[in-house]
Formats: sequence, structure tokens, C-alpha cells
Amino acid sequence: MGDRTLSAIGVLNLQGDVAEHLDHLARLGIEGTPVKEPAALSGLAGLIIPGGESTCLARLMRTFGIAQAIENEFRRGMKIWGTCAGAILMAREVVGEAPCLGLIDLVIERNSFGSQLDSFISEAVIPRVSERPLPLVFIRAPKVLRIGPGVKELLRIDDYIAAAESGEALVTVFHPEMTPSVAFHRYFARKCGLDPYGPDLQPDVDPKWITTSWTRLARII
Ligand code: GLN
Repeated sequence: MGDRTLSAIGVLNLQGDVAEHLDHLARLGIEGTPVKEPAALSGLAGLIIPGGESTCLARLMRTFGIAQAIENEFRRGMKIWGTCAGAILMAREVVGEAPCLGLIDLVIERNSFGSQLDSFISEAVIPRVSERPLPLVFIRAPKVLRIGPGVKELLRIDDYIAAAESGEALVTVFHPEMTPSVAFHRYFARKCGLDPYGPDLQPDVDPKWITTSWTRLARII
């Protein structure tokens, strides 16, 4: 594993919301590492597979030969969080398609709300993550239709599950990295055994950051 001390969280750096996740980790005082090659996975406490386009990400994972290394590190104890396309890559079953990594026992359906034009923003309270409502950004999002034993629902909306987790894996069909809130990143960091600042030093929403950030279009909580 090398001599890293499991203090960093990687962000799969092939396509999608890489900078946005690294930015949120930095706000929590966590070392975020862009990961492109298998060697960069060594010694990470966790890995975020960002949103983007799952077909493209799956193809690039093959090109960079990193899928097997992600699975190996996951078995070794590295936690993984998949957002949107990342959640699709992690699912054990994808409706009508072959699964990719299959690291969490759930069934997911791609593009389940319709086209890009059917993207939307809403908000919800997810008690395990924060007592305050969290902004939720859905971009041509999938729906989690079913979860297996050993997987817990974190957020259900209408007929689908929007966030779920097992002991080792977390999936969200929305994009916390595109909002002013770092609550979900803190939740994942804690799952990885990290949270150097804690809510007293770094609140879930940084008031100085909202007005100038590219996240200003998301609903401000
Ligand atoms: N629609 C994309 C897919 O199926 C996911 C979109 C996203 O990550 N925002 O891969």
C-alpha cells in the first residue's frame, strides 16, 4: 500500500465533475487527489467517481486499465462514492445494460427522468447527512429502483431511491458537488474516517463562497 496514511480521498479524473469534487474536499481541509492511473489509488481512504457520462467513463476506465485496481482497493477497504454517472458505474444491475463495477447491490436505470431538458433542482432533508435541507441537482439523472439486503436507503422520493449506501459504498443520483453545501462530502469523509475540520471550523455552507461561485445558480440554503 505504500506509506500513505489513508488521509486522502481520490477523485476519478477521467471525465465529469472532477474539479468540483476536489474543490469541496479542499473546503473540508481534506487532501483530494485526482486519480487517472491505477498507481494513484494506492493508500487512499476513499474514492469519488464523479458524474459525467457513464458510457464515456466506462470506456476511459478500460483505456486506463483502472477498473480492476478500483475493485481491488475497494476489497482492501477503500470507500467509494458514486455521484450520478458514478452511481451507474457502481451498480450491480443497470436496466437494459451490462453493469460496470458492480460494487453495490442495487438496480439503477439510466436517464430515468428523460432528456437533458428534464434536469431539475429540488431540495430535501436527509437526516443521516444533515438536519438542514440540502439542495439536490439532478442532471439527466438515473433512478435507483431497488436495493438489495445490506444496502440502506438514505433518501427516497416518490417511486425511486435518490441516495443509498452499504458499509463500503455510497451512491447519489444527484450532484452535491454542484451546490454550495459540503454536507454530503463531509458525510462521505466521515465514512472514510476523515473530517479534520468538523462542522465548527467549516460549516456546511461557506457564506463567503456562495455569491461568486459557479454554484450560485443552485438554490441557496
Ligand atoms: N445520463 C448520464 C449517464 O447515463 C449521467 C448524467 C450525470 O452524471 N449527470 O451516464
